[in-house]
Amino acid sequence: MLKATKIRLYPRAEQAAFLNRQFGAVRFAYNTGLRIISHRYKRHGQSLSAKGDIKKLLPVAKKSRQYGWLKEADSVALAQACLHLDQAFQRFFDPKQKAGYPRFKSKRGKQSSYHCMSVKVGEDWIKVAKLGPIKAKVHRPIDGKLKSITLSRTVTGKHYASLLYETEQVAPPPLMDVDVAKVVGLDMGLSHLAIDSAGRKIANPRFLKKAQKNLKRKQQGLSRKSKGSAKGAKARLRLAKAHERVAHARNDFQHKLSRQIVDDNQAVVVETLKVKNMMKNAKLAKHIGDASWHALTEKLEYKAKEQGKPLVKIEPWFPSSKTCPLCQHKMDSMALNERDWTCPSCGTHHDRDINAALNIKHQGILKLKAEGLSVSAHRGSRKSGMSPVAA
Ligand SMILES: [Zn+2]
Repeated sequence: MLKATKIRLYPRAEQAAFLNRQFGAVRFAYNTGLRIISHRYKRHGQSLSAKGDIKKLLPVAKKSRQYGWLKEADSVALAQACLHLDQAFQRFFDPKQKAGYPRFKSKRGKQSSYHCMSVKVGEDWIKVAKLGPIKAKVHRPIDGKLKSITLSRTVTGKHYASLLYETEQVAPPPLMDVDVAKVVGLDMGLSHLAIDSAGRKIANPRFLKKAQKNLKRKQQGLSRKSKGSAKGAKARLRLAKAHERVAHARNDFQHKLSRQIVDDNQAVVVETLKVKNMMKNAKLAKHIGDASWHALTEKLEYKAKEQGKPLVKIEPWFPSSKTCPLCQHKMDSMALNERDWTCPSCGTHHDRDINAALNIKHQGILKLKAEGLSVSAHRGSRKSGMSPVAA
């Protein structure tokens, strides 16, 4: 099983300077590749590939006088920058993702660099090629084979290493028999972070809301400062730090919440939301950014996988909040601000959100059954590798 973990790094001044050059080289490879591809297309109508044509230019550039300094950088990291650029173009060309045209990486944004050759982790250090051990805060030993390290520097100047390693630990056999009472449908919404099919409404915690208010104040503080001034730079750093605190708090809360949901249930059903479409509405966008459903779904997904429990994703065009869970009557339209409604067919009054979670659960159960799982009203059992397979 592949596992990921993130640790804080404390590079010495000269190590930080080395990393700076490394990040710069990765950024240069990405941005130059993007510039060449855009130019070729505009001027000559030619489509170049980042992972093919651009990657091939790297050894040429390293031999040149002008770009010879690229030799100092980790060559795998530079190749990876081309791959990242290629992925950005793939997202752009994929009609389902609706991603914008790839953008240049800024010197001021988050920096990162991928390393997979001669990487090591010790008790309180990590090591990547061309650089001595960097002091690190390793919380628990890496119990497996280290595959790669992605180094990063945040806008506020903190260094991290994201480690990917392979453990001996095998994933538990998938649940084949699920108790219907232990299937939870989650409706991730605007009024609450999530509402489950049992009727539990999960709001964002108060400390997060407070941090967000603070963020808004810092944002306004920055907009009053003139661009390029020392005061402006200070305000920008304060804002980045406030962003960082909100992200930490949210991450922490989502980890605890997803742990609880996965531990308490045998299957989790979520809706893949049309976030991209909704982002067009600026007022909704803030809420969506705050709630960050995507991040929560990701955490649910890997925690469920670790326990052999299915996570079911329901297509977003399924009218989950517009269908009556009792008689399956579908409403033609419903405004986003209509919080409750009465079914014209059977006369039942519904809370829009709980109703949606119930329908999501219902659809998830249908999907689980279609995949061959047994979903019934009894305790779930695990398929055991030792027992004979039933014919
Ligand atoms: Zn009805």
